[in-house]
Amino acid sequence: MPTMKDDTVSESDAAAGFHLRPHFKRFNQKDDVFRRSWWDERIRTQKSELFYETYREPLKTWRKVDGFTQKDYALRNAAWHVSDLFTELKQDQDRREGFSDEFTLYRDIAEEQMDLGTPTQAAAEIKRVGKSFGADLIGIAEYDERWMYVHKFSDMSKREKPQEIPKGLSSVIVVAQAMDYDLIRTVPSALSGAATGLGYSHDALVVLSLAQYIRNLGYSAIASMNDTALAIPYAIKAGLGEYGRLGLLITKEFGPRVRLGKIFTNLPIAPDRPIRFGVKEFCDTCRRCSEGCPVNAIPSNAPSDEIYNQSNIKGVVKWTVDGEKCFGYWAAQNSDCSICIRVCPYNKDFSKWYTRLGRWLAGTRLRKLMLRLDLALGFGSRMPSKRWWRGEGETAGGF
Ligand code: SF4
Ligand code: SF4
Repeated sequence: MPTMKDDTVSESDAAAGFHLRPHFKRFNQKDDVFRRSWWDERIRTQKSELFYETYREPLKTWRKVDGFTQKDYALRNAAWHVSDLFTELKQDQDRREGFSDEFTLYRDIAEEQMDLGTPTQAAAEIKRVGKSFGADLIGIAEYDERWMYVHKFSDMSKREKPQEIPKGLSSVIVVAQAMDYDLIRTVPSALSGAATGLGYSHDALVVLSLAQYIRNLGYSAIASMNDTALAIPYAIKAGLGEYGRLGLLITKEFGPRVRLGKIFTNLPIAPDRPIRFGVKEFCDTCRRCSEGCPVNAIPSNAPSDEIYNQSNIKGVVKWTVDGEKCFGYWAAQNSDCSICIRVCPYNKDFSKWYTRLGRWLAGTRLRKLMLRLDLALGFGSRMPSKRWWRGEGETAGGF
């Protein structure tokens, strides 16, 4: 029987920290736990239906506790509003763009192709434009079929649909939008969901504008958010960060506090390389997310290819999160949960010198000391939502 040591890992996969095993299988969107919440009776419960309803109509009577009042839900839902509008625009065509389907809201591609210079010059320009449109982070990866959904799935007609990204889009531009630090400090709360909603609303604006810019230059470009492909492996390949125990991308600039978007294009642009700043080694020592998760959905052991259920990709050696347990908690509290993001020592406001010092320490042999200091100084603890409403957060402008 072959062992993990016998697996051949290519140089580029090793650089990205990917370890795929011979039984690797591309992921089917139908198995995503959010898609399952529409067709799988084990996941679709009364609680999950109420969970989704509260994103349309704020709960008024459910709980009166801090962070779950009508005002908190009202703000959360308003933050989602722009993303929701884009997503709902083509529902009559069985499309939920940005979550189940890639975006199709464009003007035509220009007939004349503009020369942007060398692939390196083109990459630099695209990054400048992306940042000017509001991207907090932006990187470029080569197209990699392994991370594309093998089929898409419609929540509305409850049917599988074919993958629609055409051949020949050889580059993937990955953008990350930072979520608000102080809102995430209020987790668990409906209020904190405003950070998620704003992340997606900003994301939609940036990926659609940047894709249209590339189309105006005469090249193909298709914008996408959570649909179409697994965003985290692309983000790692694009040099935006490393993979963490909590099952998310950890960026140097914002830790795990980001939402991702991507643009598939045939514009000739130079790819970035994966980065390493000590996350894997730090996560080997730290257990803040697995200990903080209220439903034990995050593993505390070493990375492996073991999976919990069909919502996990098969044949990848990594820290795997139990999406069924995680979504069950979201449904039970009528809002998304980001406790693991809040408590992660990489979740900081890095505009301050002492937080940058902590991040540097985390990447050295003094990582255990950093972890002890982080706890002693109270990082990762919850801020009551009423403090956020009083404007007592840490970040300068908030929001
Ligand atoms: S989001 Fe909440 S429930 Fe899900 S893994 Fe993180 S801490 Fe656990
Ligand atoms: S909380 Fe600790 S173990 Fe979990 S992702 Fe963050 S650094 Fe890694």
